[in-house]
Amino acid sequence: MTTIGEHPTITFLGAAGTVTGSRFLLSSGETHVMVDCGLFQGLKELRLKNWEPLAIDASTISAVVLTHAHLDHCGYIPKLVQQGFKSKIHATEFTSKLAAVILRDSARIQTEDAKWAAKKGFSKHNPPKPLYNEADAEKAIQQFQDEPFNQRVEVAKETFVTFHPSGHILGAAIVEVEFFGKRLMFSGDLGRDHHPLLVNPSAILPGHFDALITESTYGDREHVASTTDFQTAINETIDGGGSVLIPAFAVDRTEVILVRLRELMEAGTIRRVPVYADSPMALKALDYYREAINNGSPEIREDVRADWVGRDPFDPGTLVELNTVDESKTVNDPSQPCIIISASGMGTGGRVVHHLRQMLPNPKHTVLLVGYQAVGTRGRALVDGAEQVKMHGELVPVNARVEQIEEFSVHADANELIAWLGTCSEKPGQVFVVHGESGVAESFSDLVVKKLGWRSHAPKDGETAEL
Ligand SMILES: [Zn+2]
Repeated sequence: MTTIGEHPTITFLGAAGTVTGSRFLLSSGETHVMVDCGLFQGLKELRLKNWEPLAIDASTISAVVLTHAHLDHCGYIPKLVQQGFKSKIHATEFTSKLAAVILRDSARIQTEDAKWAAKKGFSKHNPPKPLYNEADAEKAIQQFQDEPFNQRVEVAKETFVTFHPSGHILGAAIVEVEFFGKRLMFSGDLGRDHHPLLVNPSAILPGHFDALITESTYGDREHVASTTDFQTAINETIDGGGSVLIPAFAVDRTEVILVRLRELMEAGTIRRVPVYADSPMALKALDYYREAINNGSPEIREDVRADWVGRDPFDPGTLVELNTVDESKTVNDPSQPCIIISASGMGTGGRVVHHLRQMLPNPKHTVLLVGYQAVGTRGRALVDGAEQVKMHGELVPVNARVEQIEEFSVHADANELIAWLGTCSEKPGQVFVVHGESGVAESFSDLVVKKLGWRSHAPKDGETAEL
């Protein structure tokens, strides 16, 4: 890291050269503000980075600003608190609420993994310890401070932030940061137009920006229509007497899938079979979406607010919410056609692993992958055509039909990202491209230069740049 002086700088402590671990540190003299504070996920070499010492003393950070509640943006917060961070975490109301759910779950998983490692004797810590525990998560949750959308708030010395809806998940924001006279815009994760519940991503505000920090998850591609569509895959499976398993991220993807299933069942396009929502975290998130709709939250589409207050847009009439493990077990290897939506979205943990283990060997069933599948995950292996996958120490044959469905992506693709950047009224000082797999961020940065003629750069991990 270069020396941090009086001149405002940004240091990329994560999501540089990779998608996960978003952590961007703004520094000027004694003031340090962190935008997003996420966990590294996926490959082991990335996950190990969560254990590396942070490049700054956590107790010297004046504020954390959070774009949204996904684990790769908020999951490091309890570790930061454990290391002495005592100030506020500024986030929108539903980001705070969802982050609380996600951080508690993360702490539980960290603790269980440590116990498992202790039992199996594989851990570099002796005795194995979790990255953080439930008490760390609870302490962190107390430090959240809710901020409204579209209002400029002061979060630290000469630091003002404004949250604008990003259409990615409930609570998610594009964040404008004024830092010691420099004006920055963080895309967070940028959603797409036509989310069934959330408003379209906000355009960039008028005026000059010294830097735009943009994600690039799908920065090297365009969303294309899948070869098989959602309803065809479901109909063919149900007609064949099988069931459909949809691994889905607990927050947002479950909601979007449920809305789509309701619409298709109402239209008579797919048969009314039981729909099981099988993830405690997803069910909590579902209640927050219902609350946001009923309270007329500004990030909810106007037509949804008008049509669905006091009614449930997520229930096609056959929705069954499975809260307990025993309830979940009742749908193991279903004999009657049904649709099961379960987390995690990449098949890395949670109840979906049990369903995969039961359903993958049976050619009657179908697994529909509806989200981004990171390198190194089971979901990615399935997409890549694996003939068997390892689960609970056992190789499970993949005989079920596996399809990847693109229509539910909640990340903007290359063209959509360029279009959003193009809403900037003046040429920005510079663009930093982050949050892309290795090679993707660089190629999107080249695209920014080519299409918009702006100065753009994909920073390396740990790099510091002057603003
Ligand atoms: Zn996200």
